Amino acid sequence: MLAEVHLPRQTKQETVDRGDFDRFMVPNYAPAAFIPVRGEGSRLWDQSGRELIDFAGGIAVNVLGHAHPKLVSALTEQAHKLWHVSNVFTNEPALRLARKLVDATFADRAFLCNSGAEANEAAFKLARRVAHDRYGEEKYEIIAALNSFHGRTLFTVCVGGQLKYSDGFGPRIEGISHVPFNDLAALQNAISDRTCAVVLEPIQGEGGVLPAERSYLEGARTLCDQFNALLIFDEVQTGVGRTGELFAYQHYGVEPDILTSAKSLGGGFPIGAMLTREGLAKHLVPGTHGTTYGGNPLGCAVAEAVFDLVRDQALLDGVKQRAEQFKSRLGQMAEQYGVFNEIRGLGLLIGCALSDGWRARAKEILNAAAGQGLILLQAGPDVLRFAPSLIVSEADKVEGLARFERTLMLLTRAAD
Ligand SMILES: *Cc1c(COP(=O)(O)O)cnc(C)c1O
Repeated sequence: MLAEVHLPRQTKQETVDRGDFDRFMVPNYAPAAFIPVRGEGSRLWDQSGRELIDFAGGIAVNVLGHAHPKLVSALTEQAHKLWHVSNVFTNEPALRLARKLVDATFADRAFLCNSGAEANEAAFKLARRVAHDRYGEEKYEIIAALNSFHGRTLFTVCVGGQLKYSDGFGPRIEGISHVPFNDLAALQNAISDRTCAVVLEPIQGEGGVLPAERSYLEGARTLCDQFNALLIFDEVQTGVGRTGELFAYQHYGVEPDILTSAKSLGGGFPIGAMLTREGLAKHLVPGTHGTTYGGNPLGCAVAEAVFDLVRDQALLDGVKQRAEQFKSRLGQMAEQYGVFNEIRGLGLLIGCALSDGWRARAKEILNAAAGQGLILLQAGPDVLRFAPSLIVSEADKVEGLARFERTLMLLTRAAD
């Protein structure tokens, strides 16, 4: 009957499973065998109702865990008011967020976008634009660190220090060179009057949770000043409380000219920001750069709520305390099981470097942990990475670490 044709679709959602990933999605990821469907705090539940503890936080994103009530209400309140207006208009959440970011940092100006790659893209374009306007056509070279990661757009992937990620996509963006991280002499050799920017992660995240040495960042600052190059800190992974300071540069006491933030900034809602000084910002006049969604009210309302919570000194002190607790338990496990022999990082960005007999087995260990109900990350094949919620509860921390210990116990027993 005709009437039936117009009946609304069933409201019950169609079931999907992991096999649908292989059927319908571009195969650029290799997701886990289970599908998370719900999260609360540091716990996740999959389709079968199995509960897992989440020490990965969506790759250092869910800085306040899952479904934090204040973030849920910021999102839903804004959802009832206004989602999107484009940059033909400005909007209140964007202005409040920008003011807060500027007030809390070295920066005078903010550019809002939707991801880490976009924040870096804006940073690199700004650096080239400033050099072009001030010094002319010849000054466009960017120096980055080997093993760094700055995103997956063509420009950002070419700046990143893993050539294999930019192989096979046609000609690379020109004028980019890479130097070993934490090697000031190498940077000194590479920098010249043609350098427009040096970009560094204060802690290399994807590259293995490797913190910069203070003297390295200080030296980079001095060299940049000497050669009229801008110093860019990519704090996409280290920013917004992750290290126990609002931004990692505040640990080091070295100020960049441009800082990029994303991941934790939205606590799980996609947003990015590039922060810079007045005299640099003025080079991005109307028409030079932009993004349709960047600075949308929905994302900014959530990010503002994240920022209000994370900026709190008690929360940041809590990160330092939790970091000590994690590191001391992990230290015991390192001694007892020998799977990893170095624990590094700052705050709640922690890397455990695998010992000789366990090299290249990070993925296998992650899978074993998931079997014990624990979600971890790797940072390359040789490093296990922990990036838990900054407010992970005592109970979840203890239980998650116990599950990790069970994983190590099973793996080492199997190896005997
Ligand atoms: C994740 C990350 C990026 C890329 O961010 P996306 O949001 O994935 O584009 C850039 N830089 C660093 C340091 C990162 O950790």
